[in-house]
Amino acid sequence: MTQTIGFIGLGNMGLPMAKNLLKEGFAVRGFDLSDEARNGLEVAGGSAFTSVAEAVTNVDAVVTMLPNGAIVKNVYLGKEGILASIDEKTLLIDSSTIDVQSARDVIAAADERNIQMIDAPVSGGVGGAAAGTLAFMVGGKKEAFTRAEAILAPMAGKIVHAGGPGNGQAAKICNNMLLAITMIGTGEAFNLGRALGVEDQVLYDIMSNASGQSWSLTSYCPVPGPVPTSPANNAYQPGFATDLMLKDLGLAVEAIETAGTETPLGKHSHDLYKAMAADGNGGVDFSGMISYLADQQS
Ligand code: NAD
Repeated sequence: MTQTIGFIGLGNMGLPMAKNLLKEGFAVRGFDLSDEARNGLEVAGGSAFTSVAEAVTNVDAVVTMLPNGAIVKNVYLGKEGILASIDEKTLLIDSSTIDVQSARDVIAAADERNIQMIDAPVSGGVGGAAAGTLAFMVGGKKEAFTRAEAILAPMAGKIVHAGGPGNGQAAKICNNMLLAITMIGTGEAFNLGRALGVEDQVLYDIMSNASGQSWSLTSYCPVPGPVPTSPANNAYQPGFATDLMLKDLGLAVEAIETAGTETPLGKHSHDLYKAMAADGNGGVDFSGMISYLADQQS
């Protein structure tokens, strides 16, 4: 029998994700505040509605792809929100990138009503959403994770269970904090190499075969040349925009404070990306940090 998904938030990520569900034979009932987004779903063969409540009526599962924790809370817990509009059989999947605490609060509210819910943020960006190759990091009970796998599959390249509620969000911010740190470090190494007269390609060949190796270096190299697909070869067009990295680092810093742990480099990378964005580079790929840092020196 055809499974029906209620999809809330049909923006840059949500619409292509919903399209991949449609392609795999799911029926999609969608809602977004934007007329254009709702039209996009209709054109792709889904049904668009003018309220959350209508979109989630008689569905097997709901997927949400929304901007932040406050909006997610409102859409799930509001008077005419998702929890007020579904029955116990509906599986809930929030794929937005939000703060860990909001994710845990919403899942706890669903749990109180015996409704299964997971947090399932993604990496892979708009390209991965269109190609159906997103990496989903999932938090929630094993049973809910197992149920969700078949629904996530058409949108996914990889689906990993990271533990209990909120752990998908936690894993995502840990990964992106590390990514920010390695990208800044990689940029610093090339800037120092240049200042000391070492050519980019030579330094790349050495570091990529030595202990300085990382994804930031070998898959997303911040200097043009060594990795032809990296944004450095395309005037640092994103890719992954600095504003999006800044959002994730902001969530990491919030979580660091709540968890009472120390991550000096994580906090410093947040400060550096904040300064880079404030300097008018919010739309530049995050690997453009190398040029921002070089400009600070001159
Ligand atoms: P977007 O701004 O393009 O889309 C968000 C959509 O939500 C918009 O269409 C907006 O109209 C809609 N919306 C806002 N409030 C709503 C409400 N109350 N009810 C219904 N719809 C509402 O953002 P995006 O790039 O699609 O990102 C969505 C989420 O995915 C964010 O949490 C983001 O951090 C995360 N994410 C984005 C990327 C990326 O590369 N864009 C990558 C990974 C994760």
